[in-house]
Amino acid sequence: MQALKETDPEIYELIRQEERYQVESVRLIPSENYVSRAVLEASGSVLTNKYSEGYPTRRYYEGQRYVDQLETMVIERAKTLFGAEHANVQPYSGSPANLAVYCALLKPGDKIMGMALPHGGHLSHGWNISVTGQFWKSVQYTVDRETRRLDYDAVREMALRERPQMIVAGATAYPRQIDFRIFGEIAKEVGALLLADIAHIAGLVVAGAHPSPFPYADVVTTTVHKTLRGPRGAMILCRKEFADRIDRSVFPGLQGGPHNHTTAAIGVALKEASTPAFKHYGHQIVRNARAMAEELMDRGFDLVSGGTDNHLILVDLTNKNVPGKKAARALEKAAIICNYNTVPYDPRKPFNPSGIRLGTPAVTSRGMGEEQMRQVAGWIDQVIRQVNDDAAIARIGEEVRSMCRGFPAPGIVLDGD
Ligand SMILES: *Cc1c(COP(=O)(O)O)cnc(C)c1O
Repeated sequence: MQALKETDPEIYELIRQEERYQVESVRLIPSENYVSRAVLEASGSVLTNKYSEGYPTRRYYEGQRYVDQLETMVIERAKTLFGAEHANVQPYSGSPANLAVYCALLKPGDKIMGMALPHGGHLSHGWNISVTGQFWKSVQYTVDRETRRLDYDAVREMALRERPQMIVAGATAYPRQIDFRIFGEIAKEVGALLLADIAHIAGLVVAGAHPSPFPYADVVTTTVHKTLRGPRGAMILCRKEFADRIDRSVFPGLQGGPHNHTTAAIGVALKEASTPAFKHYGHQIVRNARAMAEELMDRGFDLVSGGTDNHLILVDLTNKNVPGKKAARALEKAAIICNYNTVPYDPRKPFNPSGIRLGTPAVTSRGMGEEQMRQVAGWIDQVIRQVNDDAAIARIGEEVRSMCRGFPAPGIVLDGD
């Protein structure tokens, strides 16, 4: 980054510090990851100089000889990897992708039925502070109070009662597999379209570590920057019959020119995701989450739903008498990065809820395994037990950083290394 260093030393320095921070901490935010050097290079390429409104061979600008080839190739890779009939790789991110789907397939005022945000759903699934809950009518299903898992009978009952035009299956803080087959049946039964939002689990789906939403969903959206280990961006995959409406909704409906540098980096990530190494990666994410979950439960932590079968863990800290935000802040001081999170039926407020959310995609990208996950769970336990003892937390931080040195972070070359 020599040119950056000379042109803008302040920005350069912040990026260098962030690099070191990402190397020297255990990053447990389940939506984060480390992308490869190849993905970073494509993201930082001259493709950022291009404008190419439209789609391959149907552009509103000349000069697309390479961009057309590129986007066509990335679309084909996406279709092949997920087994989809059609792919749109232009959405700027996950929320705009979902918005594009609603704009394409619903009329204003139609009804969306998604998972409630405090129960693990995403803002863009019709939650009331999102435009998706304002431009469309919205009803929200929840998890069961006892099991804190999805109750598919209750989902079906709500669908029969509410008759939504679209059902959204997918989550951002749900530690269990989602049964897309049952969602497909329910949608069919009530004449709704099914949108599967696999933003968090796309990498697991590709690896075969989580059941695929195909062929049950009419439309599938996903971010590419979470378990899929690509640049910040998103894709919409759908049946042929919806292809035109989806494409027109993304452009010109909602967006202007696609981010071609991102398209290129998505292509690289999709190529990487089609390898045997990535399959192994996806399964290791799940094994790691399970190992961490077991160790936490052995240490008396209350995990929502009693464990995990994907990449994430939701810890209800009520029995530890430490609020989620306080826990997350203390963990950060020990170089363990996570986020405070609402738990289902949380008696506390969303800005200071009862839980923390942990995930294994990023640490698994560094090659950490079950042994390290148990070690991390032990440190989490120590921090929570000594949450007011800054000196003890600092000592734990030293151990965490020391462990991190043994696991190089993909994509990052520190200055002086
Ligand atoms: C992360 C996420 C999104 C949104 O992604 P952004 O790129 O942050 O807009 C959408 N849906 C789900 C389920 C997510 O987890």
